[in-house]
Amino acid sequence: MQITKNKVAAIHYTLRDNDGNIIDTSDGRDPLHYLHGAGNLILGMEEGLEGKAKGDKFQLKISPDKGYGEKDPNMVQKVPRSAFGDQEVRKGMKFSTNQGNVVTVTEVGLDSVTVDANHELAGVELNFDVEVMEVRNATNEEITHGHVHGPGGHHH
Ligand code: ZN
Repeated sequence: MQITKNKVAAIHYTLRDNDGNIIDTSDGRDPLHYLHGAGNLILGMEEGLEGKAKGDKFQLKISPDKGYGEKDPNMVQKVPRSAFGDQEVRKGMKFSTNQGNVVTVTEVGLDSVTVDANHELAGVELNFDVEVMEVRNATNEEITHGHVHGPGGHHH
């Protein structure tokens, strides 16, 4: 059975940056279950998995436009140091905004702090090693909900 729209696939993956550093991996965890064609994964991943079958192992190189997008310079902002109150603020720290976004501190000045609200993988070329572990038909309920139920999926 091949991966096409409305199939559920289970995959193992390892994600590296262009320097070979591992950013994320399913190694040592359960495989990732997803509903194909429902936008559950980034576009480059869905395109690369289309037509693949159980047992297939392959590599994918995904550019930012089919991954997490380019970095948006408008999402880098200076905010007053006072906005953080008495909290310690250091470069690399992450904060949740009132809108529920996660921002990363990229610079700390005396009076101001620079924060970046881009996804941490924005602008990054993604190198995936992928192995397809399982492919099955999605249930009607899964198709309606747009996500996987049962093992590796939503429980509700
Ligand atoms: Zn559901």
